[in-house]
Amino acid sequence: MTEAPVEAAAADVDLETLISLAKRRGFVFPSAEIYGGFASTYDYGPLGVEMKRNVRELWWRRMVQERSDVVGIEAAIITNPAVWEASGHVDGFSDPLVDCLECRSRIRADHIENDTCPVCGVVGRFTEERQFNLLFRTFVGAVQDDAAVAYLRPETAQGMFVNFDNVLQSTRRRLPFGIAQIGKSFRNEITTGHFTFRMLEFEQMEMEYFCDPAESIELHEYWKQERLDWYRSLGVRPERLRMRDHDPEELSHYSSATSDVEYLYPWGWGELEGIAHRGDFDLSAHAASSGKTLSYFDPQREEHIVPHVVEPAAGVDRIMLTLLVDAYDEETDDRGEKRVLLRLAPHVAPVTVAVLPLSRNERLAPTARQVWDQLRPHFRTQFDDAQSIGRRYRRQDEVGTPLCVTVDFDSLDDGAATIRDRDTMSQIRVPISGLVEALQQRIDELQPEG
Ligand code: ATP
Repeated sequence: MTEAPVEAAAADVDLETLISLAKRRGFVFPSAEIYGGFASTYDYGPLGVEMKRNVRELWWRRMVQERSDVVGIEAAIITNPAVWEASGHVDGFSDPLVDCLECRSRIRADHIENDTCPVCGVVGRFTEERQFNLLFRTFVGAVQDDAAVAYLRPETAQGMFVNFDNVLQSTRRRLPFGIAQIGKSFRNEITTGHFTFRMLEFEQMEMEYFCDPAESIELHEYWKQERLDWYRSLGVRPERLRMRDHDPEELSHYSSATSDVEYLYPWGWGELEGIAHRGDFDLSAHAASSGKTLSYFDPQREEHIVPHVVEPAAGVDRIMLTLLVDAYDEETDDRGEKRVLLRLAPHVAPVTVAVLPLSRNERLAPTARQVWDQLRPHFRTQFDDAQSIGRRYRRQDEVGTPLCVTVDFDSLDDGAATIRDRDTMSQIRVPISGLVEALQQRIDELQPEG
């Protein structure tokens, strides 16, 4: 399988630096910060929300719109609890937990190495292991009794399984085909931390690929490669990505084989996306539980089969964290001044082009505004005329804006503006009338392969 090169180095940004940048520049805020925040819950700010939309759209385009064999749905977050009983989540969606008797931290038993508490470092002082269910329970209706219990979905996948027949009937698909969905999921995670890596409320992008059981192993391999390629197309450094196959004892209750796309985070390798072979577990479970037939009629063989499923399941928030960690860089210039920059690919960056008049001089304002008006329909833009031009370049570098356009006094005479490149800091002069094309060309050149 694809393994990371031995010399792969973890990202050198520490999480505190990144969390502070994310807050200061409006990517991610602690949720309800004025009340002291809330465990593992975050809000996205103006730049974060733009970047998150880019991630979702890039996934949707690659997984649904550019393909001929995948369609999308949007299912409800709160649905009939019978779904979660049949799927095994009510009984089986749990983590093994222990308490450290020394520091009282609650820890996932499968996160403990060498019998040592990861919080206080004391060895062998744990309570017995207990299973802790991750489902968030709520009540539907006026009476809060057992009959009114419902759950916030812990994954989007079940929406695809319970709609399998509706999609099949309404779209007349042939195997193999996929159903994709992007939406919020909720898990009562006990061990949290690592910023947006593990949250209580997070967003998933999942696709269930239904196929002939005879082709499922091959398709599992296909999706593993396809998903790695997608991360590379976002510009994630290949040496910090790897594919890891689960050991049999690690597999979830529904899976017959799972591989994880892993990223080398500042704290080590961690799961970025799971690619599970779910077999016919879910369709069979829902058929048995609902009494409905959930199968596919194979016209060639003239028989009904229960398709197998390969599921690439990604998390938007984990991708956001990964992209920020991966893009973070620091440089020191000739004068010994530090430059912080996010080397985000243009299609991921929240702002693609910043328009910066050289100064606030009123002679420059109309032309600068005109340039901004011209660019807004084509790019994600920002206009900034506060402080010195050098500081404004640094501010754009720090949020990953790949290109800046500067309007100066010469622009008033020669009708040209300067395009300044984030990574190389090189500058070229182009006519304002050809700015859109020149910027687009540069953006295309900067786009990662894949
Ligand atoms: P982990 O082992 O880290 O708890 P998981 O194996 O339970 O993750 P899956 O059920 O495979 O995760 O979910 C698919 C994807 O959804 C994960 O790869 C991750 O990107 C995202 N995800 C899962 N749980 C969370 C969470 N609590 N916060 C943020 N993202 C999550």
